[in-house]
Amino acid sequence: MPNMDDAIYLDNNSTAPIDPRVAEAMRACHLGRPANPASQHAAGRAARRLVEQAREQIAATVGAQTTGMDADRLVFTSGATEANNWIVRMLCGEPPGEIVISAIEHPSVEDVARQLALRGHQVHRIPVDANGVLNLSAAEQLISPETKVVSVMLGNNETGVLQPLAELAAICRAAGAPLHTDAVQVVGKLPVDFRGLGVDAMTFNAHKCHGPRGIGALLLRPELKLAPLLAGGFQQGGLRAGTESVALPVGFARCLAIWSKEGDARAEHLAALRDRLESQLRAEFAELVVNGGQAERLPQTSNVSFPGVDRQALVMALDLAGVACSTGSACASGSSEPSSVLIAMGCSPAVLEGSIRLSLGGFTTAAEVDQAVQRICRCVNDLRRQKSERKRAAPPPPRGAERL
Ligand code: PLP
Repeated sequence: MPNMDDAIYLDNNSTAPIDPRVAEAMRACHLGRPANPASQHAAGRAARRLVEQAREQIAATVGAQTTGMDADRLVFTSGATEANNWIVRMLCGEPPGEIVISAIEHPSVEDVARQLALRGHQVHRIPVDANGVLNLSAAEQLISPETKVVSVMLGNNETGVLQPLAELAAICRAAGAPLHTDAVQVVGKLPVDFRGLGVDAMTFNAHKCHGPRGIGALLLRPELKLAPLLAGGFQQGGLRAGTESVALPVGFARCLAIWSKEGDARAEHLAALRDRLESQLRAEFAELVVNGGQAERLPQTSNVSFPGVDRQALVMALDLAGVACSTGSACASGSSEPSSVLIAMGCSPAVLEGSIRLSLGGFTTAAEVDQAVQRICRCVNDLRRQKSERKRAAPPPPRGAERL
């Protein structure tokens, strides 16, 4: 078994390693004077300044308006799951009404919609095509003035496929339906323009872009009224009470500042590595399927199927061989069910059975990709050989069984 230090980490869509420059900025906060940003003394005021500077910088980096009467609001949360839960539940409200999501949402939206359906809300799911792209004409049919909230992600976490959010926003605007997008996988990889997209609310987090785990953001247009998530204090405009961390927003702001400086080079690096990975795998396995490969995609994500191979056995074999990857969303990894995203794309059973997600990060190197390809090839071939040996060794079916 390889030393864990040698393991090649290809699961950056699940979480990405923290950038040492981010860790350093956070360390300085942790080791500085203790201060609660709600305290009125000088140390408290200094902490408040750091939090508010971080909030403004983060909002500006993703294209929000940060000044004037029309400024957007950014609320820090514990992560994207909390932000997605909050906005979808809050916009649905009572009495039960209609909700529109896509068929490929992350569990933090999909599971909330299912719970709301149990409480009497009517949930509509916009289908996607075989490439994983939202069907806009279906969206037009499903979204109406009755719709209380539309929630559709910007880039899919399993396939990386980018969604036509600006076009969807126009449909929502015409119907007067508020639109939320989960931009978790896009922030830190490709430019994101909150105002330019025309959405009303957007979720993102820090840990997918080499920032700290434990902080996310919900960005809101000023006209969207938000009911408080937590009571018990006036923090974050009374919307989410509780003592605020200073180090987490500072780390969040730092990772986005690095992205805004290095983002173009990072996106190029990631796309080159992804193409290298896929072309080497294709050269070895002519039958390889790249799910969503014909669509516009995020540069860091490659969802590939090795038909005839069991995805869970492959992920386990790769773990032992020193390649960390996944079968899909980490939030659904407790489940042995095939990916709901690939099912929505209409993938065949063989493609569903053999699909894994390989996701690259800013620190992944070409040498790691080359080494990972060798390990993947070895594992796929071993699993296929074992499968055919098992088949050969299996006792013949009892006489007459073939007629049953
Ligand atoms: N949304 C998407 C698209 C994700 O990929 C994830 C993380 O896997 C989340 C939401 C949840 O993010 P967090 O870990 O910050 O709760």
